[in-house]
Amino acid sequence: RKSRVKTKDKMDRATNEQVLDPKTRMILFKMLSRGNLKELNGCVSTGKEANVYSAIAGDGSPAAVKVYKTSILVFKDRDKYVSGEFRFRRGYNKHNPREMVRVWAEKEFRNLSRLRAAGILSPEPVFLDRHVLVMSFFGTDGWACPRLKDAKVSTRKLAEMYVSCAVIMRQMFHIANLVHGDLSEYNLLVEGSKLVVIDVSQSVEHDHPYALDFLRRDCFNVNAFFNRKGVQVLKVKVFFEYITSLAGSQEVDSYEQVVQDLLSKEENQWKESEEEEEATDEAVFLNTPIPRTLHHVEDIEQDLQLMKEGGGESLLYRKIVGIAGAEEDESTHSFGSLPSPSKEE
Ligand code: ADP
Ligand code: MG
Repeated sequence: RKSRVKTKDKMDRATNEQVLDPKTRMILFKMLSRGNLKELNGCVSTGKEANVYSAIAGDGSPAAVKVYKTSILVFKDRDKYVSGEFRFRRGYNKHNPREMVRVWAEKEFRNLSRLRAAGILSPEPVFLDRHVLVMSFFGTDGWACPRLKDAKVSTRKLAEMYVSCAVIMRQMFHIANLVHGDLSEYNLLVEGSKLVVIDVSQSVEHDHPYALDFLRRDCFNVNAFFNRKGVQVLKVKVFFEYITSLAGSQEVDSYEQVVQDLLSKEENQWKESEEEEEATDEAVFLNTPIPRTLHHVEDIEQDLQLMKEGGGESLLYRKIVGIAGAEEDESTHSFGSLPSPSKEE
C-alpha cells in the first residue's frame, strides 16, 4: 500500500506537466511497481511523435523512457516506412493508432538492437511495453547530451565528426543493413567527441523500396548541416556512393581514410566558387530516380521464387549495394515527393 502511494508520487512528479492518457499512465505505473524502472523523472523532450523522460532503470542505471504519442494524424504520414517492410507485413493495422505506435516502438527497439550489434554508438534498448520504450540514457545527472544541432563544437572537431558520421552511415548500411531515414543534426547526440545515433523508429531495411531515396535525403541533410557550419563536405553524390559502394574492407579505420582521401580530391568537394555549376550537378543527382527493387511485398515473394528457379540474375535489387552500375527505373519518383518524417521545430 505504502509503496503504491510512493509509486504514484513518482509518476505524478514526472508527468504532472504532461497530459498522459490513462493507458500510458498504467503502463508506466506497472513499470515502476514491477521494478523495471526505479524512478521516472523529468521530461527531456516533448516532440510531435513522442515524449522522452529521464529515468532510473531497475538495475540503477540511467535510462531514457520514450513514450510514443497515439495521434493518428502524425502516424498516418509514416505509413510509407512500414508498408514496404517485409518484417511488418503481418500484424499491422493502420486504422488503429494504438496498434501503430506499438509497431513504431517495437521497430525502434529492434533497430537499436541492430545498431548496437553492429558496433554503432546508440542507446541500448532495455525494455518495451506496448508504446513505451526504455533505453540507456546518454547524458549526466539526468541532463541529456546535446543534439549535434546545439552542441558547442569547434569547426575542427566538426570536420572530424563529419567523417565519423559518414563512417557511421556506411556501417549502418552494410553491417546493420539499415538506412536511418531521418538523420540530421536533430537525431545525433554529441557525447564528448563522439556521435550517438538516436530516433530510429522510422529506419528501414537497406532493401526497402524507398531505402536509397531515404539515404540520399539523409546524405543531403547531413551535408547541409556541416556545410552551414563551415566544414568542407563531399558532393552529395560522392557521399552517397561512399556509403553504398561495396569496395573497401570492413575496417573502420580504413573507412575513415577513404573519406579523408575523397575529401582531399578537389573534384569531390563542394565549392562555394563553383556554387552554381555544382548546384546543378547536385540537383541532377538529387532528382535522378534511384532504381528501386521491391515495390511491395508481393514482389519480394515473386522474386524469391524467381531466384529459386535460377532466374535471379536479372533482379534489380541484387545491384542495390553496388548502385553505381544500376540503370534507371521509370516507376520511381523524384526527391521532392518523398514521404517526410516530421522534423522537430
Ligand atoms: P522524437 O524526435 O521522435 O521526438 P527522439 O528519439 O529524437 O524522439 O528523442 C527526442 C529527444 O530526446 C532527443 O533529441 C534527445 O534530446 C532526447 N533523447 C532521446 N533518447 C535519448 C537517450 N537515449 N539519452 C538521452 N537523451 C535522449
Ligand atoms: Mg528526433
